[in-house]
Amino acid sequence: MPGTLYIVATPIGNLEDITYRALKVLACVDLVAAEDTRKTKILLDHYGISKPMVSYFSYNERRRTPQLIRHLEEGKSVALVSDAGTPGISDPAHTVVVAALEHGIPVVPIPGPAAFVSALIVSGLPTNAFVFEGFLPVKKGRATKLAQLKEETRTVILYESPHRIVKTLEQVLELFGDRQVVVAREMTKKFEEIVRGPVSAVLKEISSRSPRGEYVVLIGGKPR
Ligand code: SAM
Repeated sequence: MPGTLYIVATPIGNLEDITYRALKVLACVDLVAAEDTRKTKILLDHYGISKPMVSYFSYNERRRTPQLIRHLEEGKSVALVSDAGTPGISDPAHTVVVAALEHGIPVVPIPGPAAFVSALIVSGLPTNAFVFEGFLPVKKGRATKLAQLKEETRTVILYESPHRIVKTLEQVLELFGDRQVVVAREMTKKFEEIVRGPVSAVLKEISSRSPRGEYVVLIGGKPR
């Protein structure tokens, strides 16, 4: 009997945002595969869990996947976690999930936080239909992607870094016009902040200080 691959969501900032079931799974599995083992150790230590860990991140996932599949085929259970939030959401997981499915290994989700869901539900923008795009391409394809998104009638959700948040808002203003946007920063953390309004006003607010932390950008859909 193969073991089970658990895809385990972890907090996006507040260590208390983890489910009882996630903690139970992390305490019971044979191995934890983590995007950043040092970061995950802080979480596990906080909950008194001690587990063998291996790294699984975007640059080693192809090499690491066959090793994890071997463990699973030997009957060992593995929990996959990313640095924050839900693995597979703008984070590595896909390669090992596909490989596990190909090998007939059970893959079980342990749901929990995802930054974009937290931001969407308090944004005030329509939540009934939305499109999650993750990070925009940094250079090539960025303008094409934004041009496509401009026509989108659903709420558009992006992930953004502090280095590019101002540039992204400037591009949205230039291409989309003064659409309603919401910028959610440092969700669940000490400096959580949500700025809502027309993009011109939000841009002014965000660029008035040096951007810091992690951002979710939500853009109101094109009016029908
Ligand atoms: N797997 C994660 C999830 O489930 O949301 C996303 C990982 S992705 C590599 C990291 C990006 O997610 C950040 O650059 C930021 O855009 C967004 N993010 C993660 N945590 C956040 C937070 N606490 N507040 C705002 N945005 C966050």
